[in-house]
Order: sequence, then structure tokens, then C-alpha cells
Amino acid sequence: MIDTHAHLARRFKQEGDLGRLTGVVLAASSEEDSVDNLELAKSDKKLWPAVGIHPQEVKENIGEQIKFLEELLRNNTNIVAVGECGLELLEGADKNKQEELFRGQIELAVKYQKPLIVHSRKASEETIEILKSYKNLSGVIHCYSGGKKRIQKILELGKPPTASQSWRSGWYFGIDGNVTYEIGLAEVVAAMPKDRLVLETDCPFLTPAPFRGQKNKPEYVEYVYKKVAEIWGKSFEETEKMVDENAKGLFSLYKNHI
Ligand SMILES: [Zn+2]
Repeated sequence: MIDTHAHLARRFKQEGDLGRLTGVVLAASSEEDSVDNLELAKSDKKLWPAVGIHPQEVKENIGEQIKFLEELLRNNTNIVAVGECGLELLEGADKNKQEELFRGQIELAVKYQKPLIVHSRKASEETIEILKSYKNLSGVIHCYSGGKKRIQKILELGKPPTASQSWRSGWYFGIDGNVTYEIGLAEVVAAMPKDRLVLETDCPFLTPAPFRGQKNKPEYVEYVYKKVAEIWGKSFEETEKMVDENAKGLFSLYKNHI
């Protein structure tokens, strides 16, 4: 099992008990988290760091924020992804600034050939519009909430205009603990291609049943795997094998990782 999205940075004060996990992708929300992730990765080779800045962490000088991330990318080849980054269009959000920070991180992902971890809240259409304008970009829509109707649109991101038989989508859907109690989300998962699914905890948030109300941790991703096995009608082992292959493909978790 691989938890493809966890926040274990210092400010969350999360003790990482990795249990039976093969590894954990450390998502970053800020400059500080990005540095923490790189530090944490030194302590355990099962921790794979991402660097990125969440839309709510946008500052006045976006150029400086991007420069900071670029410096980390240039100096740390073990970084597995850029993110989480994206749009969170809640009341009062500055969409233009969020978009500038998002595009800056997309450009880093393209330049350094890393997958992108996308955060999209109340912004499904806007996010797709932005991602559409880039080629050679792959990634995951983390904590997917775009419903059945946007699955195809996301799979087609980056598709060449002329039909190419060898073309394969570089996009994945990240599913979290809420699938254990939201029937609608379970139906969305059933409609997704099985080779495009990766599983996450987003810990310390989004704790799955039967631990709702408690703090989430990476090893609880097991309950997300169990739920997906149930949705697919497959054994746990078969599900684990398929989902882990997806995570390895998305984040290039081969030689130096597993
Ligand atoms: Zn997150």
C-alpha cells in the first residue's frame, strides 16, 4: 500500500507510523512544509517528498514563492512531485493571484519533469481550463470531487489534437477516506478507469470510517484500499497490486524508492 498524499510536516505534529505501507508521498502546502518534507525524507527512505504551495498560501510576491520552489527542485533530485497546488475558490478568494501561483508551479512541473499534485476546491471547471493549456504535463487531481461528468475531460488533458493510438492519459484521480462514508463518491470511483486511481489519506484530515473524528494517519489508507476493493468486487490483494502500480507509474517510484 502507498499513501500518495499525506501531510507529515512539522506544523501538523504528526507521528508517522507507516505500519505495512510501502511508502508515503509527502504533500506540501507551503514553503515551510516543502523544506520540512525534504528533511523528513532524510530520516526514512519510505517517505517521498513533494514541494509546493497551496492556493490559500499565496503571498504578495508570487515570483519569490516560485523562485523558492525552483531552488529546491534544482538542488534535490529526490523530489517526486510538485504540489499541492491549484485553486480554492471560496468566498473572498483572489482568483487571479491563485491562478498565477498555480501556473508558476505547473511550469516548474513541466520544466523539471515532475508530476503535479492538484488541489481543486469549488473550482473544477476553472482548474480543467488551466490544465488544458499545457502539454507534457501529468499529475493527480487530489481528493477528487469533480463527479462522474468530469472524468473524461480530465483523462483527455494533454491529448494531441490528432488521434494517436499510442497516446495514454497522464492523469490520475486521488481518492481519500471520505469514500468510506460518501455513497456518491463510491459511485464516482466505480465509473473511473481502474488504471487511473491512486489512494490517499490527506492526513491529518479526512479520516476514514471506522476512525472518523480521530486524527488521520498514513496507515489508515488501508481502509480506503478496502473500500475500493469492495467497489471493484476484487480481493484486497488484487486491488492493492493494481493501485500500487498506478502510484508507481504516476510518481516514477522505481529504482531509488522501492
Ligand atoms: Zn493535502
